[in-house]
Amino acid sequence: MHHIRYVGQRLHCESVDLDAVARLHGTPTYVYSAQTITDNYRRLAAGLAGIDLRICYACKANANLAVLRHLANLGAAFDLVSGGELRRVQAAGGSLRHSVFAGVGKTEAEIALALEAGVYGLHVESESELARIDHVAGQLGRRAPIALRVNPDVDARTHAKITTGRSENKFGIPLSRAMAAYATAARLRHLEIRGVQMHLGSQLTSAAPFVEAVEKMAPLVERLKALYGITYFSIGGGLGIAYHDALASGAREWWEARPSDERPLTAEAYGTALRPLLAPLGLQILLEPGRYLTGNAGVLLARVEYLKRGAERNFLILDAAMNDLVRPAMYDAYHELVPLVRDTSRPALTADVVGPVCESGDCFARDRTLQQVSEGEFVAFLSAGAYGAAMASRYNTRPLPAEVLVLGNCFELVKARENFEIMVAGEKIPGFLNA
Ligand SMILES: *Cc1c(COP(=O)(O)O)cnc(C)c1O
Repeated sequence: MHHIRYVGQRLHCESVDLDAVARLHGTPTYVYSAQTITDNYRRLAAGLAGIDLRICYACKANANLAVLRHLANLGAAFDLVSGGELRRVQAAGGSLRHSVFAGVGKTEAEIALALEAGVYGLHVESESELARIDHVAGQLGRRAPIALRVNPDVDARTHAKITTGRSENKFGIPLSRAMAAYATAARLRHLEIRGVQMHLGSQLTSAAPFVEAVEKMAPLVERLKALYGITYFSIGGGLGIAYHDALASGAREWWEARPSDERPLTAEAYGTALRPLLAPLGLQILLEPGRYLTGNAGVLLARVEYLKRGAERNFLILDAAMNDLVRPAMYDAYHELVPLVRDTSRPALTADVVGPVCESGDCFARDRTLQQVSEGEFVAFLSAGAYGAAMASRYNTRPLPAEVLVLGNCFELVKARENFEIMVAGEKIPGFLNA
């Protein structure tokens, strides 16, 4: 469960009134619940209790420095996919020695950065990458710890843009070629074979694909342990969360969200299904959850700018747009939308919920029914803590949104809203344009 709920008629994040946050810091603003992240982290660890486990938070889901520090304090390591993320973890005081570096297109500079930081493992996606890492490690006079990402060709049954574990995806090495790739790695003098990795995709709502993939991988994992003495098996991330009915139970009102048969995967179900398959391997197990840890811990606050009543449809025009939260436009994702101050005496409103960006794709929801809201009032998109701020852009020269972290009754701005000067800081008008 998360800590976003109504206290009386006012939406709270833990003990903090979100309407007060919106008034103080303006909108669009992301707000994260540190306690929810803690609970999610502990629940996942408890689900796999008894296994030698390390949770490497996938930074790409939400890489705000405060979020990273909070996870580091909980004992998390990190799954990094760029030099920039590595530097964020460094800046947040996280442990790089226990973190892993992944990504299909690592540059030589990124490989050198990861080796110098002493990461726990580089997750390798191809044989050419093995050669490149060996070369960079040789130049630095180091041995690079590596794990190959093996693609188990399992259907994750999730959105096409977030599935990665099929043979047609760009990710990893096919299971049938894995032994040959490891033999190549073993011949390279500057590599140390340390583990094996897989990742199926994102927002998986059943344990079945994980079970199928671990079962397919197990014989390979055992051979690698016997032949090369690998010490870890990373089973990736991808645990899904609830996007429908995302408010804590009991808080629902008559402006019901669209009914859904969505059944989020629980840490308990995940752990129960996987523990019997993982325990006999006798290896350290790495998890790389992103969305599961931060997704339901965050909301995006927005202000109602206009209610435009049309002949055929109504439009609720917010000050948040696709540049702040791109998931609806990019993945047809559903986010619940609720008022910060509810009033059950008001009539219902059905509208298309849109932002001000000049694109018809700038639409958060079609035909959404919620409580009648007036211009100047605030609303919140729920389950926006992962792939929200992290994917925000400056399209239409809109500043990146502000971010706030809550713990109990404390809250603090952890990213200031950008100003115009910062947005254009790297730009210049060249001398040859001066008339
Ligand atoms: C994106 C990614 C993750 C995290 O995915 P979630 O769905 O957010 O848990 C983990 N591992 C790898 C290799 C990834 O690319």
